[in-house]
Amino acid sequence: MEEFARVVAPALLDPEERVGETRLRPERLSDYVGQTTVKENLDILIEAAKGREEALDHVLLYSPPGLGKTTLANIIARELGVNMHHSSGPAIERPGDLAAILTSIDERDVLFIDEVHRLSRTVEEILYPAMEDFAIDVMIGKGPSARSLRLSLKPFTVVGATTRAGRVSSPLRDRFGAIYRLDFYALDELRQIVLRSAGILRIAIEPEAATAIAQRGRGTPRVVNRLLKRVRDYAQVKGDGTISLELAETALRAMDIDDEGLDAADRKLLAAIVQKFGSGPVGIDAMAAALSEENETVEDVYEPYLLQLGFLDRTPQGRIATERARDHLRRNGYEVPPPRRPERLDPGFWDGVTAEGRSPASEGPGLTTEELGATSEGRGPAE
Ligand code: ADP
Repeated sequence: MEEFARVVAPALLDPEERVGETRLRPERLSDYVGQTTVKENLDILIEAAKGREEALDHVLLYSPPGLGKTTLANIIARELGVNMHHSSGPAIERPGDLAAILTSIDERDVLFIDEVHRLSRTVEEILYPAMEDFAIDVMIGKGPSARSLRLSLKPFTVVGATTRAGRVSSPLRDRFGAIYRLDFYALDELRQIVLRSAGILRIAIEPEAATAIAQRGRGTPRVVNRLLKRVRDYAQVKGDGTISLELAETALRAMDIDDEGLDAADRKLLAAIVQKFGSGPVGIDAMAAALSEENETVEDVYEPYLLQLGFLDRTPQGRIATERARDHLRRNGYEVPPPRRPERLDPGFWDGVTAEGRSPASEGPGLTTEELGATSEGRGPAE
């Protein structure tokens, strides 16, 4: 993918950026912008666990990439005053890898498992008794003389993170006492994040410029932070170092990011649906092929925000580019042929497919909160 196209893709992160992000991570719950309900619930959970001097219940966080799951896991550990061990589903390849991690963690520590939906079945099976009874069963010896030995562990907390709640197996999901979904951030929250990051990075920025960046930030803290840094570079080279509204807009235009925060790759996807597939319905395979991307990338990186904007709608027949998406393309100079209206759909169907009509915000990838059997507040402090 071209360089400019990467700026707004929340999942793509090079190692250097990962290091840079650490500086911008809020360290306490009170510095964590937005996600009010999740924060309130976590606060109670943390205080209660501290009061009882027990390990916190296991917590599962789910959201599209870049919305603050890792940050929240770090905050949980810090608020509890314990260490955080960072691992991920694909990194824990064998049961022995997990056993090594589990036996080395201290009482009440947090084990953060990113991409928890990618744990293998055999590793998951070790994790169940570890989460439930703080014990693991290890096999000693081989063949007929082999026997299983139960090792106790110190009580600890798993914080699992996933972009795919629907891919977390149900036995694993059941072992989390609290499940929270992080939502895309509102404009004002993103603005606060831009101003906060600018303060940390000592960047002079006008409030209107912060709003302009927030508007194009796709509801995602990682994206606004990245845009801020790019605009800062631009200000340094082309201006006097201060980010004014005019400079921010020029810089963002130079990055080919439009007023909805979409980049060339997003528009290419929408244009493909509209021009090649008669505005849909189109399956995920065809969409991925049109972009030469993996299905998972389309589902995790492109789709969530387009659904949130009300530009895409998911139907049982496939994805549909809505009238809003078609308007957006038209305004950006794309040719927009009439939609191929499937006969089964009612007349007027296309007009109803908007952000207002169908609240796509609640239709992110994976399960809806109802399907998960939890509310966005999680299951609350479990007793
Ligand atoms: P995820 O784990 O969901 O992919 P991260 O926790 O790595 O996302 O967050 C990405 C970046 O966004 C971090 O550098 C962090 O500084 C910033 N960030 C995320 N959530 C918030 C928030 N609520 N307030 C301020 N900054 C945030």
